[in-house]
Amino acid sequence: MNGELLYKKVGIPRAISYYNNYPFYYGFFTFLGIEVVLSDKTTTKIINEGCKYVVSDTCLPIKVFTGHVVNLLDKGCDVIFVPSIQSTGYKINNCSKIRGLPEIIRNVINRDFTMIEPTLDKTENISFRDFCRDTAKYFGITDEKSINNAIDAGWKVYNDFLEMTKSGVGYQEALNNAISGKVVKKSVDIVKPLSVVIMGHGYNLFDDRISMNIIKKLEKMDVKVYTSLNVSHQEAVDSIHNIGELQYWANELELTGTAAYYLLNNKVDGIIALSAFGCGPDSLMVDEMMYHCKEKGMPLIHLTIDEHTGEAGFVTRLEAFVDMLMRKKRSILNKQSAKTQKQTAEIVKIRDNKILTGSAK
Ligand code: SF4
Repeated sequence: MNGELLYKKVGIPRAISYYNNYPFYYGFFTFLGIEVVLSDKTTTKIINEGCKYVVSDTCLPIKVFTGHVVNLLDKGCDVIFVPSIQSTGYKINNCSKIRGLPEIIRNVINRDFTMIEPTLDKTENISFRDFCRDTAKYFGITDEKSINNAIDAGWKVYNDFLEMTKSGVGYQEALNNAISGKVVKKSVDIVKPLSVVIMGHGYNLFDDRISMNIIKKLEKMDVKVYTSLNVSHQEAVDSIHNIGELQYWANELELTGTAAYYLLNNKVDGIIALSAFGCGPDSLMVDEMMYHCKEKGMPLIHLTIDEHTGEAGFVTRLEAFVDMLMRKKRSILNKQSAKTQKQTAEIVKIRDNKILTGSAK
């Protein structure tokens, strides 16, 4: 490392890229000797705070992100990480709000603080290494060796996290383990009467307040839940291709890639699309999946959320969907069992006929 750090702490809003990248961010900053301060978990107060700053037709996740920045400032943290993640591959883009996140925050929060705002834009040849170098530079770190070692440390935490989630460990448990340097994998896959996959951004799905705890609610209904964390990057990329689509959006692996993987492998009884009201990319991806699900006879429900979404209505729709899946599954099983009974009866009849005519030995 070279010299004194310009800032000893960095605040990370618990929103948007936090949900995909926090294990990496944690490993990277901690290795460089920078203390990570997280905003509190999302609450109604944080959402309301964010809503005060941005125009009402902005999507919920951006309002939530803004609320988390305010939460960090209120905690006395005035160095805040607000990356501009433009594209994650050549012409694999984020929506304009995520691309312009630092600009949004700068223009809506009129308070004194420092933004750490590196850019990732693979379409413009700004690589992930450049993104990390740029980040370190804000703290006065330019030594290549330290930065490379910090990147390795970040990947280590991130890969440990993925290894656990891929084995079936839940988001929060895997995150807690990864940042405390532990890898605990699940060895037994619990079988439940029904299974669904939820297609949705990590920042919607794994934020318990935004998602209204959808995963726990489904598990309480005895439904096995799969998410993007159970699908590898390559499996999601291949699934988008195999279903006949092209990846355009950076978050498409979490939505189309994940849903397509389970649809093509016929591994679930239904698909739940969870998206923020007014989200352009999601409306396209969900529409696309609706088309493919209709073709293959796979039930799909689209649940949209915003700051006004009431929990009662949300739960009612969820319960009705699960109920419908259960009835559909029972009817398929009944038909299969009727078919098996009919086949068995025919075999018995043929055998009895043979006995009667003396042809059976
Ligand atoms: S992808 Fe959709 S939900 Fe996410 S930030 Fe952009 S507009 Fe909002």
